[in-house]
Amino acid sequence: MKNVAVLGATGSIGASTLDVIARHPQRFRASVLSANADVAGLVALCQRFRPDVAIIAEPSQHAALREGLARSQLSTQALAGPQALVDVVASSVCDTVVAAIVGAAGLGSTLAAAQSGKRLLLANKESIVVAGALLMAAIRESGAELLPIDSEHNAIFQCLPAPAIGAAATPSVRQIVLTASGGPFRGWSRTQLATVTPEQACAHPKWRMGRKISVDSATLMNKGLEVIEARWLFDAAPEAIKVLVHPQSIVHSLVSYTDGSTLAQLGNPDMRSALAFGLGWPERVDAGVADLDLAAIGRLDFEAPDEDTFPCLRLARQALQRGPLATTVLNAANEVAVSAFLQGQLGFLDIPAVLEATLAQVNEGDTTSVSALLALDQTARRTANAQLKRFEA
Ligand code: NAD
Ligand code: MG
Repeated sequence: MKNVAVLGATGSIGASTLDVIARHPQRFRASVLSANADVAGLVALCQRFRPDVAIIAEPSQHAALREGLARSQLSTQALAGPQALVDVVASSVCDTVVAAIVGAAGLGSTLAAAQSGKRLLLANKESIVVAGALLMAAIRESGAELLPIDSEHNAIFQCLPAPAIGAAATPSVRQIVLTASGGPFRGWSRTQLATVTPEQACAHPKWRMGRKISVDSATLMNKGLEVIEARWLFDAAPEAIKVLVHPQSIVHSLVSYTDGSTLAQLGNPDMRSALAFGLGWPERVDAGVADLDLAAIGRLDFEAPDEDTFPCLRLARQALQRGPLATTVLNAANEVAVSAFLQGQLGFLDIPAVLEATLAQVNEGDTTSVSALLALDQTARRTANAQLKRFEA
């Protein structure tokens, strides 16, 4: 029996994880559930999954969580605050951690899973964008098992020879090709993009996801973050990581070898496949996902990404070339800009403008420890917030 901590249980990845866990009561158990501030949502999940521990990240909601669990007559322990996440992840209450918190807020708990030698199912891409070197070093030192959950990286993991993670890059790999759906605005002009709304940006054609990653998919920043993620996960040279737009989202990514062979992983666009892969690995378990019916799909299309209309992908590549300082600043500024866009305070086309201005201003800082990276993240957030005033919608 695997005891699984589902961090970000009330989110999109959290729901998909719990769906897979519920299909295998003899194999997997949700021993820890966490949420940011939604006590009612977390208590409802506790009623169904009866975990040992429930954690609400927002400290002011501790009493509400305790009362909610007591009213439901559950013996689940109620904890609160970011440090509780770290402590519980490192404890024996779980052997597997699904890192599905959104944003750099997931860094502490993701690193704790890596440092304590757990099986880490990594969906929280922002933590590896910010602290890739430290996270991979922690995995190597502790012997933790990292299974990528981002569908592209999960596909690459499946197409690479073992061990795909933590070893030096495979010399026979010529390139890694990340596919991208292109998001809801594929083919649109900058004139059309100037007036798009958060609702339009969040209406992704192929994936149902949280609002932050949905906007990242619409700007192509999601693919930029994924290029950085791939660099760390697979020890890949940035030039060897390509992006290919594939609107049907059936081919989840590809790996090309020196002999001219290209391996791809295909499936329906449903995150439960990657989560079932990570939970069951090295065995395969039922994910509740329908068989792929290529005859019904009929055709698969591919095209190059449009980096002029969607400059975030280029900004992410440039940040990767500059190093950890730039990728941390990029991520923080992006979190601020996306949040402002979602609140109607920033235009869609101003998102990359805020990133560029913040990257130009924050160019000093230590990146050699987690505390230094978090300090840099805060500086970049303050700078990006100050930039917002220039662009106010
Ligand atoms: P979501 O917004 O649906 O859920 C986020 C979860 O994190 C919620 O449970 C929320 O309560 C929690 N949370 C938010 N802020 C927090 C904080 N400050 N402290 C603690 N918890 C907090 O997001 P999602 O779509 O499930 O994505 C989660 C992560 O997985 C993101 O990093 C995203 O990039 C990645 N991811 C998602 C998908 C997808 O299909 N949804 C695919 C690939 C990768
Ligand atoms: Mg992805």
